[in-house]
Amino acid sequence: MTRSISPVRGINDILPDQTYVWQWLEEIARETLQAYGYREIRLPLMERTELFARSIGEVTDIVEKEMYTFEDRNGDSLSLRPEATASCVRAGITHGLFHNQQPRLWYAGPMFRYERPQKGRYRQFHQIGAEAFGLEGPDIDAELILVSARIWRRLGLEGLRLELNSLGTPESRAEYRDVLVGYFRDRYDELDEDSRRRLEQNPLRILDSKNPDMAAVIEGAPRITDHLDPESAEHFAGLKGILDAAGVRYRLNPRLVRGLDYYTRTVFEWTTDQLGAQGAVCSGGRYDGLVEQLGGRPVPAIGWAMGQERLVELVADAGLAPQTRTPQVYLVPLGSAAESRAQSLAEELRDALPRLRLWLHCGGGGMKARMKRADRSGAAHALIMGDEELASGTVIVKPLRTDSQQETVSVSDLPERLRALCGGSDRD
Ligand code: ATP
Ligand code: MG
Repeated sequence: MTRSISPVRGINDILPDQTYVWQWLEEIARETLQAYGYREIRLPLMERTELFARSIGEVTDIVEKEMYTFEDRNGDSLSLRPEATASCVRAGITHGLFHNQQPRLWYAGPMFRYERPQKGRYRQFHQIGAEAFGLEGPDIDAELILVSARIWRRLGLEGLRLELNSLGTPESRAEYRDVLVGYFRDRYDELDEDSRRRLEQNPLRILDSKNPDMAAVIEGAPRITDHLDPESAEHFAGLKGILDAAGVRYRLNPRLVRGLDYYTRTVFEWTTDQLGAQGAVCSGGRYDGLVEQLGGRPVPAIGWAMGQERLVELVADAGLAPQTRTPQVYLVPLGSAAESRAQSLAEELRDALPRLRLWLHCGGGGMKARMKRADRSGAAHALIMGDEELASGTVIVKPLRTDSQQETVSVSDLPERLRALCGGSDRD
């Protein structure tokens, strides 16, 4: 036998037993976002490496060590996208989407980061994201948070926590940066290697360290919210006011700095403690400087991205996704005449009940084997059609999950009967 080929570490297949949960999550996110006026944008899986270096930041984990970067046959450096905000901005500039418009956009798809694979952290993972451009007030910040909160509600997810912070403007951040560097310099002995390196290059990222040994020194650090410029402080107060009025609970977290360089003012993260270490399910923030930084005119913007793997795990663990993968009926023809009629009968039933989940038995076999497959399909009812039924224009409707009696139904009455039997609706 030839040796089989193993999959790539950290890159998963999503099997049919899971895809129904993915589809349900995607459908709810899509419906909700579109109802708020967000329109889908489909972005490429790879971009010029420079796009990510210039947007996410040279001294970030993502750009320093997590990107899948390669030269194409032409010698251009390309990278698989580690996130999609940069692409969204690039596409907006390319196509003039920001001229006299305030587009609200959403996207979904795989992202690639060379991280250490573990539960909730993969090398190919999926995000659904939303971005709003051209709006600078806190109203849009609030809307983006509210739309995410509505998605959680529609999924039935409870217990997600919203953490909120403001990073101010680049100028106020620079002042804070000096204060922070002073603080950490005085405690240089307590810093781990990563943080010492960051101290020179990107000191705010020290606050994001996941090393428990760093917790105490980080806890004592000066707070960015004590160093906001007046406009950012006002913006932040405005956002909190809207969230308070809308009844959205949040926790202020002055250590929340996020791993990407482009954020300004509002940053937030939805977290859960039901997934162990990988608790962030959705994160985002404002990035007012990014469009200009990437060669466009100055356009304020804000967005978030949710991690689908983590959300799928949450909703699957809680049994929230509806079961629509099993058939409602399994049609079993017996005998060659019935077999040739069954295919057209199945089509007629599908015409009458467009959403009916009907599986037709294919592949022959004895009566016992056919009924066993009907049972294994999970169908609620088997429809049995033998020579006798064929001759009399009827079908036997046999309940597979209850003790109810089987019944003989004429083919012309069958759609009506199935509509009644399959939960009174063909819209499952
Ligand atoms: P984390 O702190 O968990 O590394 P992050 O700050 O790097 O997350 P973002 O870049 O903001 O995450 O991405 C948004 C969301 O995408 C995260 O909240 C998370 O749910 C998900 N996510 C990020 N990286 C991964 C990954 N490697 N595998 C699975 N999901 C991920
Ligand atoms: Mg990360």
